[in-house]
Amino acid sequence: MPTRLAAFAAPGQFWRGNLHSHSTRSDGVLSPEEVCARYMSEGYDFLALTDHFVGLWGYPIVDTVPMRTRGFTTILGAELHSGAMANGEVWHLLAVGLPADFAPSDSPDFTPREGQETAAGLAARAVAAGAFVAIAHPQWSGLTLADARGVAAAHAVEVYNHGCAIGCDRPDGMAIADLLLAEGRALSLIATDDAHFTEPDHFGGWVMVKAEANTPEALLAALKAGAFYSTQGPELRNVRLTATAVEVECSAAVTVIVQGAGTAAVAVHGRSMTRASIALSRFRRTSPYLRVTVIDAAGKRAWSNPVVL
Ligand SMILES: [Zn+2]
Ligand SMILES: [Zn+2]
Repeated sequence: MPTRLAAFAAPGQFWRGNLHSHSTRSDGVLSPEEVCARYMSEGYDFLALTDHFVGLWGYPIVDTVPMRTRGFTTILGAELHSGAMANGEVWHLLAVGLPADFAPSDSPDFTPREGQETAAGLAARAVAAGAFVAIAHPQWSGLTLADARGVAAAHAVEVYNHGCAIGCDRPDGMAIADLLLAEGRALSLIATDDAHFTEPDHFGGWVMVKAEANTPEALLAALKAGAFYSTQGPELRNVRLTATAVEVECSAAVTVIVQGAGTAAVAVHGRSMTRASIALSRFRRTSPYLRVTVIDAAGKRAWSNPVVL
């Protein structure tokens, strides 16, 4: 976990991207070309198409290189499935930045098999192959804290999944992310769509990645470095720690909150705040980290990555 917020310290500009989406190459309803076209039209700078990496669909890592244009890029990826969670269901891991020839796990479908690769092993293999790996939709999965602890190689937790918000009102990953962060685990926080285009499950949660160029390589390096924030709309323009306070600059907000471990949280409220200063005293002794949440008048949120205190 960084000791400064990499998103605001790193050089470059912010690029808007969705890290989790599906096409007709697995259980989505639009072709890969159409999914890319829709994200491009909506003003996204990049997309990771992450179809389900199971035998049922021929272990797809969809070649989205032909869909790249001036101003829009793609990162190859997949949603990986192997091994059982404590509830007996199969793991879902998001892997962004996989090589096209990533070796299949033994995952014929969404039923866990005796002796197949563990989720921890699969995550470690994806990281070794160059991917940015996230624990997908913890609340939707019914993931336990022990499950999440076990996947030590993951870079991030999906803290907001828009498809899970729309489809079953179970969008959250922040509760489990905070528990892991309180234990000192280094993690980033991502918001995604998990778009299948079967319902209004798209354009609801994304990452803003700070990089010097909108290229797959630069974006992937920035993701791994935690140089991004997640949002449903509000902009985080700067988050800075001084000796005594957290200084936040953002698009117009009604609430700015600093959260830490356990019950540690301080909020300020206003009508169209674009800056806020929150004292660090509540966090210094009790929390190994803090993070920032901004809420606008429509109830949309933006979330910083955590920073070590
Ligand atoms: Zn999933
Ligand atoms: Zn998915």
